[in-house]
Amino acid sequence: MRSDLKSFTELHYLNLLSVPVVAILLPSRYSNSVLKEDDVLRPRIAFIGTGGTIASIGSDPFDLLDYNASGARVDAREILERTGLQDAVADIVPVDFRQIDSTAISLTDWADLADLCCELASDSTLAGIVVGHGTASLEETAWLLSLILDLQVPVVVTGSMRPLTGISSDAGANLAAAVRVAATRTGGGVFVVMNDEVHCPRAVTKSHTLRLNAFQSPWQGPIGTVDGPTVTFARLEPHRPALLFPRDLLRRLPRVDITYSYVGADGCAIRAFAEGGAKGIVSAGFGPGLGSPAETAALADAVSAGIIVVQSSRTGAGQVVDSARHQSLGIIAGNDLSPQKARILLALCLARGDSPRSIESVFQSA
Ligand code: ASP
Repeated sequence: MRSDLKSFTELHYLNLLSVPVVAILLPSRYSNSVLKEDDVLRPRIAFIGTGGTIASIGSDPFDLLDYNASGARVDAREILERTGLQDAVADIVPVDFRQIDSTAISLTDWADLADLCCELASDSTLAGIVVGHGTASLEETAWLLSLILDLQVPVVVTGSMRPLTGISSDAGANLAAAVRVAATRTGGGVFVVMNDEVHCPRAVTKSHTLRLNAFQSPWQGPIGTVDGPTVTFARLEPHRPALLFPRDLLRRLPRVDITYSYVGADGCAIRAFAEGGAKGIVSAGFGPGLGSPAETAALADAVSAGIIVVQSSRTGAGQVVDSARHQSLGIIAGNDLSPQKARILLALCLARGDSPRSIESVFQSA
Protein backbone atom coordinates (compact mmCIF):
# COMPACT_ATOMS: atom_id res chain seq x y z
CA MET A 1 0.00 0.00 0.00
CA ARG A 2 0.99 3.57 -0.46
CA SER A 3 2.73 4.83 2.64
CA ASP A 4 0.72 8.08 2.57
CA LEU A 5 -2.37 6.02 3.36
CA LYS A 6 -1.02 4.37 6.45
CA SER A 7 -2.22 6.64 9.23
CA PHE A 8 -5.30 5.68 11.17
CA THR A 9 -6.84 9.07 10.52
CA GLU A 10 -6.66 8.44 6.83
CA LEU A 11 -7.91 4.92 7.29
CA HIS A 12 -10.91 6.44 9.00
CA TYR A 13 -11.42 8.53 5.87
CA LEU A 14 -11.39 5.34 3.83
CA ASN A 15 -14.06 4.02 6.09
CA LEU A 16 -16.17 7.11 5.51
CA LEU A 17 -15.78 6.81 1.80
CA SER A 18 -17.54 3.51 1.76
CA VAL A 19 -20.67 4.99 3.25
CA PRO A 20 -23.02 6.98 1.07
CA VAL A 21 -22.35 10.44 2.45
CA VAL A 22 -22.47 13.86 0.89
CA ALA A 23 -19.61 15.50 2.78
CA ILE A 24 -16.43 13.63 2.07
CA LEU A 25 -13.02 13.82 3.67
CA LEU A 26 -10.36 12.67 1.29
CA PRO A 27 -6.93 11.21 1.94
CA SER A 28 -4.19 13.75 1.35
CA ARG A 29 -3.25 12.54 -2.12
CA TYR A 30 -6.78 13.27 -3.29
CA SER A 31 -7.22 16.53 -1.42
CA ASN A 32 -7.15 18.55 -4.63
CA SER A 33 -9.40 16.18 -6.52
CA VAL A 34 -12.96 17.13 -7.12
CA LEU A 35 -15.25 14.17 -6.80
CA LYS A 36 -18.87 14.50 -7.72
CA GLU A 37 -21.28 13.07 -5.21
CA ASP A 38 -22.32 10.60 -7.85
CA ASP A 39 -18.75 9.37 -8.23
CA VAL A 40 -18.71 8.36 -4.61
CA LEU A 41 -22.20 6.95 -4.49
CA ARG A 42 -21.80 5.06 -7.74
CA PRO A 43 -18.15 4.18 -8.19
CA ARG A 44 -17.36 2.30 -11.39
CA ILE A 45 -15.83 -1.11 -10.70
CA ALA A 46 -14.61 -3.64 -13.25
CA PHE A 47 -15.46 -7.25 -12.44
CA ILE A 48 -13.23 -9.80 -14.17
CA GLY A 49 -14.61 -13.35 -14.21
CA THR A 50 -12.06 -16.15 -14.31
CA GLY A 51 -14.35 -19.04 -13.35
CA GLY A 52 -14.19 -21.04 -10.10
CA THR A 53 -17.01 -21.92 -7.74
CA ILE A 54 -18.27 -18.34 -7.78
CA ALA A 55 -19.11 -18.95 -11.45
CA SER A 56 -20.25 -22.56 -11.11
CA ILE A 57 -23.70 -23.96 -11.77
CA GLY A 58 -24.73 -26.99 -9.73
CA SER A 59 -27.29 -29.58 -10.72
CA ASP A 60 -29.71 -28.21 -8.04
CA PRO A 61 -29.52 -25.91 -4.97
CA PHE A 62 -28.29 -28.79 -2.81
CA ASP A 63 -25.39 -29.60 -5.08
CA LEU A 64 -22.72 -28.01 -2.86
CA LEU A 65 -19.93 -30.54 -3.29
CA ASP A 66 -19.74 -32.13 -6.70
CA TYR A 67 -20.85 -29.25 -8.91
CA ASN A 68 -17.50 -29.34 -10.74
CA ALA A 69 -18.62 -32.59 -12.36
CA SER A 70 -20.75 -30.78 -14.92
CA GLY A 71 -18.07 -28.15 -15.57
CA ALA A 72 -20.86 -25.60 -16.07
CA ARG A 73 -19.59 -22.07 -15.36
CA VAL A 74 -20.90 -18.69 -16.39
CA ASP A 75 -19.21 -15.43 -17.34
CA ALA A 76 -18.95 -12.23 -15.31
CA ARG A 77 -22.11 -10.72 -16.78
CA GLU A 78 -24.21 -13.71 -15.81
CA ILE A 79 -22.76 -13.81 -12.29
CA LEU A 80 -23.90 -10.21 -11.86
CA GLU A 81 -27.33 -10.99 -13.24
CA ARG A 82 -27.84 -14.09 -11.10
CA THR A 83 -26.67 -12.35 -7.90
CA GLY A 84 -28.70 -9.23 -8.69
CA LEU A 85 -25.61 -7.08 -8.21
CA GLN A 86 -25.50 -5.46 -11.63
CA ASP A 87 -26.57 -2.05 -10.31
CA ALA A 88 -26.94 -2.68 -6.61
CA VAL A 89 -23.66 -1.76 -4.94
CA ALA A 90 -21.83 0.14 -7.64
CA ASP A 91 -21.72 0.58 -11.38
CA ILE A 92 -20.15 -2.81 -12.02
CA VAL A 93 -18.71 -3.42 -15.46
CA PRO A 94 -18.44 -7.15 -16.29
CA VAL A 95 -15.22 -8.14 -18.03
CA ASP A 96 -15.15 -11.65 -19.40
CA PHE A 97 -11.81 -13.41 -19.18
CA ARG A 98 -11.91 -17.20 -18.62
CA GLN A 99 -14.30 -19.71 -17.07
CA ILE A 100 -11.92 -22.24 -15.61
CA ASP A 101 -11.39 -24.12 -12.40
CA SER A 102 -8.59 -22.40 -10.51
CA THR A 103 -6.70 -25.70 -10.25
CA ALA A 104 -6.16 -25.20 -13.99
CA ILE A 105 -4.81 -21.63 -13.80
CA SER A 106 -1.61 -21.48 -15.86
CA LEU A 107 1.32 -19.10 -16.06
CA THR A 108 -0.20 -17.74 -19.27
CA ASP A 109 -3.46 -17.06 -17.45
CA TRP A 110 -1.52 -15.14 -14.79
CA ALA A 111 0.30 -13.08 -17.40
CA ASP A 112 -2.92 -12.34 -19.31
CA LEU A 113 -4.75 -11.44 -16.10
CA ALA A 114 -2.01 -9.03 -15.01
CA ASP A 115 -2.05 -7.42 -18.47
CA LEU A 116 -5.82 -7.09 -18.30
CA CYS A 117 -5.70 -5.41 -14.87
CA CYS A 118 -3.16 -2.89 -16.17
CA GLU A 119 -5.24 -2.20 -19.26
CA LEU A 120 -8.38 -1.66 -17.17
CA ALA A 121 -6.55 0.56 -14.67
CA SER A 122 -5.57 2.92 -17.47
CA ASP A 123 -9.27 3.85 -17.67
CA SER A 124 -9.42 6.81 -15.29
CA THR A 125 -13.17 6.37 -14.78
CA LEU A 126 -12.64 3.07 -12.93
CA ALA A 127 -12.35 3.21 -9.14
CA GLY A 128 -11.26 -0.39 -8.71
CA ILE A 129 -11.05 -3.91 -10.06
CA VAL A 130 -12.58 -7.10 -8.66
CA VAL A 131 -11.34 -10.50 -9.81
CA GLY A 132 -13.68 -13.47 -9.32
CA HIS A 133 -11.51 -16.56 -8.88
CA GLY A 134 -11.69 -20.20 -7.85
CA THR A 135 -10.70 -20.59 -4.22
CA ALA A 136 -8.27 -23.47 -4.81
CA SER A 137 -5.41 -21.26 -6.00
CA LEU A 138 -6.87 -17.85 -5.14
CA GLU A 139 -4.16 -17.06 -2.60
CA GLU A 140 -1.44 -17.74 -5.18
CA THR A 141 -2.97 -15.51 -7.83
CA ALA A 142 -3.52 -12.71 -5.30
CA TRP A 143 0.07 -12.95 -4.05
CA LEU A 144 1.41 -12.99 -7.59
CA LEU A 145 -0.64 -9.91 -8.56
CA SER A 146 0.59 -8.10 -5.43
CA LEU A 147 4.18 -8.67 -6.59
CA ILE A 148 3.51 -7.42 -10.12
CA LEU A 149 0.85 -4.72 -10.08
CA ASP A 150 1.57 -1.17 -9.02
CA LEU A 151 -1.73 0.45 -9.90
CA GLN A 152 -3.50 3.52 -8.65
CA VAL A 153 -6.70 1.54 -8.03
CA PRO A 154 -7.25 -1.45 -5.73
CA VAL A 155 -7.47 -4.96 -7.12
CA VAL A 156 -9.66 -7.20 -4.98
CA VAL A 157 -9.66 -10.97 -5.47
CA THR A 158 -12.69 -12.92 -4.29
CA GLY A 159 -14.42 -16.25 -4.78
CA SER A 160 -17.00 -18.38 -3.06
CA MET A 161 -17.07 -21.63 -1.16
CA ARG A 162 -20.52 -22.58 -2.41
CA PRO A 163 -21.49 -22.55 -6.06
CA LEU A 164 -23.38 -19.61 -7.47
CA THR A 165 -26.55 -21.71 -7.57
CA GLY A 166 -26.08 -23.41 -4.16
CA ILE A 167 -28.38 -22.95 -1.19
CA SER A 168 -27.13 -20.01 0.91
CA SER A 169 -24.34 -19.43 -1.56
CA ASP A 170 -21.71 -16.92 -0.47
CA ALA A 171 -21.12 -15.89 -4.09
CA GLY A 172 -23.26 -12.75 -4.04
CA ALA A 173 -22.23 -11.67 -0.54
CA ASN A 174 -18.52 -12.09 -1.27
CA LEU A 175 -18.81 -10.25 -4.56
CA ALA A 176 -20.73 -7.38 -2.97
CA ALA A 177 -18.13 -7.08 -0.20
CA ALA A 178 -15.28 -7.20 -2.72
CA VAL A 179 -16.89 -4.44 -4.78
CA ARG A 180 -17.23 -2.31 -1.66
CA VAL A 181 -13.56 -2.76 -0.85
CA ALA A 182 -12.65 -1.99 -4.46
CA ALA A 183 -14.59 1.26 -4.13
CA THR A 184 -12.72 2.51 -1.05
CA ARG A 185 -10.14 4.45 -3.04
CA THR A 186 -7.22 3.03 -1.12
CA GLY A 187 -4.95 4.32 -3.85
CA GLY A 188 -3.90 0.84 -4.97
CA GLY A 189 -2.89 -2.47 -3.49
CA VAL A 190 -4.13 -6.05 -3.89
CA PHE A 191 -6.61 -7.49 -1.38
CA VAL A 192 -8.45 -10.74 -0.81
CA VAL A 193 -12.04 -10.42 0.36
CA MET A 194 -13.94 -13.48 1.60
CA ASN A 195 -16.62 -13.95 4.24
CA ASP A 196 -16.80 -10.21 5.08
CA GLU A 197 -13.09 -10.05 5.84
CA VAL A 198 -10.28 -8.27 4.04
CA HIS A 199 -6.96 -10.12 3.95
CA CYS A 200 -3.56 -9.25 2.59
CA PRO A 201 -2.38 -11.65 -0.15
CA ARG A 202 0.88 -12.33 1.64
CA ALA A 203 -0.75 -13.87 4.71
CA VAL A 204 -4.04 -15.31 3.57
CA THR A 205 -4.56 -19.00 2.93
CA LYS A 206 -7.44 -21.36 2.29
CA SER A 207 -7.48 -23.30 5.54
CA HIS A 208 -10.49 -25.58 5.09
CA THR A 209 -11.83 -27.50 2.12
CA LEU A 210 -15.48 -26.52 2.64
CA ARG A 211 -16.27 -23.98 5.36
CA LEU A 212 -17.50 -20.51 4.46
CA ASN A 213 -14.77 -19.04 6.69
CA ALA A 214 -12.06 -21.09 5.00
CA PHE A 215 -9.91 -18.05 4.22
CA GLN A 216 -7.72 -17.09 7.15
CA SER A 217 -4.50 -15.22 7.78
CA PRO A 218 -3.02 -17.50 10.46
CA TRP A 219 -1.71 -15.68 13.53
CA GLN A 220 -2.16 -12.31 11.83
CA GLY A 221 -5.88 -12.13 11.21
CA PRO A 222 -7.70 -10.06 8.63
CA ILE A 223 -6.60 -6.51 7.89
CA GLY A 224 -10.16 -5.28 7.61
CA THR A 225 -13.83 -6.08 7.71
CA VAL A 226 -16.88 -5.40 5.58
CA ASP A 227 -20.11 -4.81 7.44
CA GLY A 228 -22.86 -4.00 5.00
CA PRO A 229 -21.70 -0.83 3.23
CA THR A 230 -18.96 -0.09 5.79
CA VAL A 231 -15.41 -1.11 5.02
CA THR A 232 -13.05 -0.79 7.98
CA PHE A 233 -9.32 -1.25 7.63
CA ALA A 234 -7.52 -2.08 10.87
CA ARG A 235 -4.18 -1.81 9.10
CA LEU A 236 -2.70 -1.66 5.64
CA GLU A 237 0.40 -3.39 4.36
CA PRO A 238 3.26 -1.00 3.66
CA HIS A 239 3.92 -0.26 0.01
CA ARG A 240 7.10 -2.20 -0.83
CA PRO A 241 8.51 -1.08 -4.18
CA ALA A 242 11.53 -3.34 -3.62
CA LEU A 243 9.16 -6.30 -3.86
CA LEU A 244 7.73 -5.33 -7.25
CA PHE A 245 8.71 -7.24 -10.37
CA PRO A 246 8.34 -6.31 -14.06
CA ARG A 247 5.21 -7.75 -15.62
CA ASP A 248 6.99 -9.25 -18.61
CA LEU A 249 8.73 -11.77 -16.32
CA LEU A 250 5.43 -13.64 -16.11
CA ARG A 251 5.90 -14.80 -19.69
CA ARG A 252 9.15 -16.55 -18.82
CA LEU A 253 8.92 -17.93 -15.31
CA PRO A 254 11.31 -20.85 -14.81
CA ARG A 255 10.41 -24.22 -13.36
CA VAL A 256 10.32 -24.12 -9.56
CA ASP A 257 9.05 -27.15 -7.64
CA ILE A 258 7.92 -27.79 -4.07
CA THR A 259 9.01 -30.81 -2.05
CA TYR A 260 7.00 -31.78 1.04
CA SER A 261 8.69 -33.31 4.11
CA TYR A 262 7.36 -36.37 5.92
CA VAL A 263 8.80 -39.06 8.16
CA GLY A 264 11.07 -41.24 6.07
CA ALA A 265 11.34 -38.81 3.12
CA ASP A 266 14.40 -39.99 1.21
CA GLY A 267 14.99 -37.09 -1.18
CA CYS A 268 13.75 -39.00 -4.23
CA ALA A 269 11.35 -36.18 -5.19
CA ILE A 270 14.14 -33.62 -4.93
CA ARG A 271 16.39 -35.59 -7.26
CA ALA A 272 13.48 -36.01 -9.69
CA PHE A 273 12.81 -32.27 -9.71
CA ALA A 274 16.48 -31.56 -10.37
CA GLU A 275 16.50 -34.06 -13.23
CA GLY A 276 13.26 -32.52 -14.50
CA GLY A 277 15.01 -29.20 -15.01
CA ALA A 278 13.97 -27.25 -11.91
CA LYS A 279 15.82 -23.96 -11.55
CA GLY A 280 14.54 -23.61 -8.02
CA ILE A 281 13.18 -25.91 -5.31
CA VAL A 282 11.16 -24.89 -2.27
CA SER A 283 11.26 -27.33 0.62
CA ALA A 284 8.05 -27.46 2.69
CA GLY A 285 9.96 -28.80 5.65
CA PHE A 286 9.12 -29.99 9.13
CA GLY A 287 8.11 -27.49 11.83
CA PRO A 288 11.07 -25.15 12.24
CA GLY A 289 11.98 -25.39 8.58
CA LEU A 290 13.99 -28.56 8.34
CA GLY A 291 14.02 -31.46 5.92
CA SER A 292 14.83 -35.03 6.87
CA PRO A 293 18.59 -35.77 6.78
CA ALA A 294 18.21 -37.47 3.38
CA GLU A 295 16.23 -34.52 2.02
CA THR A 296 18.80 -32.06 3.31
CA ALA A 297 21.55 -34.04 1.58
CA ALA A 298 19.55 -34.06 -1.68
CA LEU A 299 18.89 -30.32 -1.36
CA ALA A 300 22.62 -29.72 -0.80
CA ASP A 301 23.34 -31.65 -4.01
CA ALA A 302 20.77 -29.52 -5.80
CA VAL A 303 22.50 -26.34 -4.58
CA SER A 304 25.82 -27.72 -5.82
CA ALA A 305 24.20 -28.27 -9.21
CA GLY A 306 23.23 -24.58 -9.35
CA ILE A 307 19.59 -24.93 -8.26
CA ILE A 308 18.39 -22.26 -5.84
CA VAL A 309 16.84 -23.90 -2.78
CA VAL A 310 14.51 -22.08 -0.38
CA GLN A 311 13.60 -23.65 2.94
CA SER A 312 10.00 -23.15 3.97
CA SER A 313 7.80 -24.95 6.47
CA ARG A 314 4.73 -27.17 6.23
CA THR A 315 3.26 -25.77 9.49
CA GLY A 316 1.20 -23.03 7.85
CA ALA A 317 2.55 -20.15 9.92
CA GLY A 318 5.72 -18.77 11.45
CA GLN A 319 9.25 -17.84 10.59
CA VAL A 320 11.69 -20.40 9.21
CA VAL A 321 14.92 -20.57 11.15
CA ASP A 322 17.84 -19.38 9.08
CA SER A 323 19.96 -22.12 10.62
CA ALA A 324 23.75 -22.24 10.55
CA ARG A 325 23.49 -25.59 8.79
CA HIS A 326 21.33 -24.18 6.00
CA GLN A 327 23.64 -21.20 5.64
CA SER A 328 26.64 -23.48 5.29
CA LEU A 329 24.80 -25.48 2.60
CA GLY A 330 23.66 -22.39 0.69
CA ILE A 331 19.97 -23.01 1.42
CA ILE A 332 17.95 -19.78 1.68
CA ALA A 333 15.47 -19.28 4.54
CA GLY A 334 11.95 -18.65 3.23
CA ASN A 335 10.93 -16.12 5.89
CA ASP A 336 7.33 -16.84 6.93
CA LEU A 337 6.00 -17.36 3.42
CA SER A 338 4.01 -20.50 2.76
CA PRO A 339 5.74 -22.92 0.37
CA GLN A 340 3.39 -21.99 -2.48
CA LYS A 341 4.04 -18.28 -1.97
CA ALA A 342 7.78 -18.78 -1.57
CA ARG A 343 7.68 -20.66 -4.88
CA ILE A 344 6.15 -17.68 -6.70
CA LEU A 345 8.64 -15.22 -5.20
CA LEU A 346 11.57 -17.49 -6.06
CA ALA A 347 10.35 -17.95 -9.66
CA LEU A 348 10.12 -14.17 -10.12
CA CYS A 349 13.61 -13.63 -8.66
CA LEU A 350 15.03 -16.30 -10.96
CA ALA A 351 13.25 -14.87 -14.01
CA ARG A 352 14.80 -11.48 -13.19
CA GLY A 353 18.24 -13.09 -13.06
CA ASP A 354 18.88 -12.32 -9.38
CA SER A 355 22.03 -13.71 -7.79
CA PRO A 356 21.67 -16.11 -4.83
CA ARG A 357 22.71 -13.28 -2.51
CA SER A 358 20.02 -10.96 -3.93
CA ILE A 359 17.42 -13.70 -3.65
CA GLU A 360 18.37 -14.14 -0.02
CA SER A 361 17.85 -10.46 0.68
CA VAL A 362 14.54 -10.42 -1.23
CA PHE A 363 13.29 -13.22 1.03
CA GLN A 364 14.58 -11.47 4.15
CA SER A 365 12.68 -8.29 3.25
CA ALA A 366 9.54 -10.02 1.92
N1 ASP B 1 -12.77 -25.87 -7.74
C1 ASP B 1 -12.90 -24.53 -7.38
C2 ASP B 1 -11.82 -23.67 -7.99
O1 ASP B 1 -11.96 -23.27 -9.11
C3 ASP B 1 -12.95 -24.37 -5.93
C4 ASP B 1 -13.55 -23.07 -5.58
O2 ASP B 1 -13.58 -22.16 -6.37
O3 ASP B 1 -13.99 -22.94 -4.43
O4 ASP B 1 -10.84 -23.38 -7.35
